[in-house]
Amino acid sequence: MPKSYLKKTGKSPLSFAANANKQKFTSAEAAAMAQPHKPEAFLICCIDSRFQPAKALDYGPGVALECRCIACVIPPEKEADADVLSRMAFRRINNIRNIVLVSHSDCGGAQTALRVPQPDLSKGDDLHAIAAIVHRAHPDLSRIGQQFLKSEGGDLRKAGDLFAREVSVRSLQNLMGYKGCGEFTTVGDEVNAGMLQVTLLHYDLEKRRFDIYDAGKGKWRHMADAGNLMQLVTGPAQEQACCLHHKASQLKK
Ligand SMILES: [Zn+2]
Repeated sequence: MPKSYLKKTGKSPLSFAANANKQKFTSAEAAAMAQPHKPEAFLICCIDSRFQPAKALDYGPGVALECRCIACVIPPEKEADADVLSRMAFRRINNIRNIVLVSHSDCGGAQTALRVPQPDLSKGDDLHAIAAIVHRAHPDLSRIGQQFLKSEGGDLRKAGDLFAREVSVRSLQNLMGYKGCGEFTTVGDEVNAGMLQVTLLHYDLEKRRFDIYDAGKGKWRHMADAGNLMQLVTGPAQEQACCLHHKASQLKK
């Protein structure tokens, strides 16, 4: 078991709330936080506390909306709850032109879904509740998960890493069917028109290394081989440039 951070340091992160002048922000970060909110990326990643997206991807305040769901799961739009749908609406209304999904190694959500291949919510069991969310990514995942467990000799961590990647690929495919911005019917239409970049990454927590998914070839690549897969779209579309606060003020009229 890792040592408890709270026990080891004897301090609460909440103590920073009482000492705002000691918070560890650079002057550039502080300036960014005082600016209007105009994020340029929509990041979908797991709730796992070990993954620190801003550090791992080297961005600061004001750059990325963070949507942290168990195992980076995005279900098909018709099965999405109000929470996911409203986050997608937030993405559209801010006209964000980059979506980045990140799965990760040693994912508790993915491993739980392997352990509970047929979740039953009527049991009121916590593991079933977590597994059910992950399996919403695709009905084939129960079968695929058991294949991974078999191929990895029952090693939950190894099979879980394969499974986390598979879940994220299914989430990426689901994402393409969500409502698109403006005149685009779906997210996929936005991508095909070159108006939106969608990128899927997998992060190894131990090696602190990303892989990137090549959707065209249906396989994962090391970042060193990623080439133009790493390109992001810069700036909002001119004709739709508008911030959320502006849209909200329009509603009041
Ligand atoms: Zn996870």
